[in-house]
Amino acid sequence: DMPPVRGEVLFENVTFGYKEGQNIFEGLSFKVNPGETIALVGPTGAGKSTITNLIPRFYDVQEGKVMVDGIDVRDVTLSSLRTEVGVMLQDTFIFSGTIMDNIRYGKLDATEEEIIEAAKVVRAHDFIKDLKGGYQTYVQERGSTLSAGQRQLISFARTLLSDPKVLILDEATSSIDTQTEVLLQEGLDRLLEGRTAFVVAHRLSTIRNSDRIFFIGDRKILESGSHQEL
Ligand code: ATP
Ligand code: MG
Repeated sequence: DMPPVRGEVLFENVTFGYKEGQNIFEGLSFKVNPGETIALVGPTGAGKSTITNLIPRFYDVQEGKVMVDGIDVRDVTLSSLRTEVGVMLQDTFIFSGTIMDNIRYGKLDATEEEIIEAAKVVRAHDFIKDLKGGYQTYVQERGSTLSAGQRQLISFARTLLSDPKVLILDEATSSIDTQTEVLLQEGLDRLLEGRTAFVVAHRLSTIRNSDRIFFIGDRKILESGSHQEL
């Protein structure tokens, strides 16, 4: 099993392709320190999602190593790896049930107090308490009960409860109003505190708030640096 990690992520000479003879990356190397937020930027098809797929080991590399805290991801069980490396999907997953249940999904034995605390941290509490049913409000999987922004706040709270040290997040492209965007940015900042994060970034505010930006293209990281440096 993978022990609890600090969250250092190292790619060492990684060569990977989905199909033989069609490598997306060759000899890719980089190191991300515990707690760093990396914004992945680049044109469609450049390989942003591909990089993030290799850390929770959705795919195996052909050559080189992907390591978390110096441990090769191939040397531990998938379930223990994915406890430490969490993935937040772009399309927030909401199931039919109460808001409380939807947040608890991140940690099935969480108490009501823990759930409310998590919601407060990521700025979801305010909108939830204003709903007629509060945390007991029943939401539908495909209903329009919740706005896109609210669904994201719920998934932030859920992810906070599950507490992965490395977090991968493909940012939604759906348009949201400026007020919601500010709220989401605040919630996201709180969620990412103390975690290593790879964010496939679409919003300028996310890019600005990251520690480093990786520009992906042409089968490599073309440039890497902070928003000020680039
Ligand atoms: P986008 O901004 O559109 O999400 P991206 O930078 O995330 O793009 P990737 O999804 O990593 O790009 O794709 C990199 C390359 O790998 C593309 O040429 C894509 O067609 C290919 N690819 C991605 N996923 C698969 C897959 N599951 N099987 C085969 N090829 C894939
Ligand atoms: Mg992608």
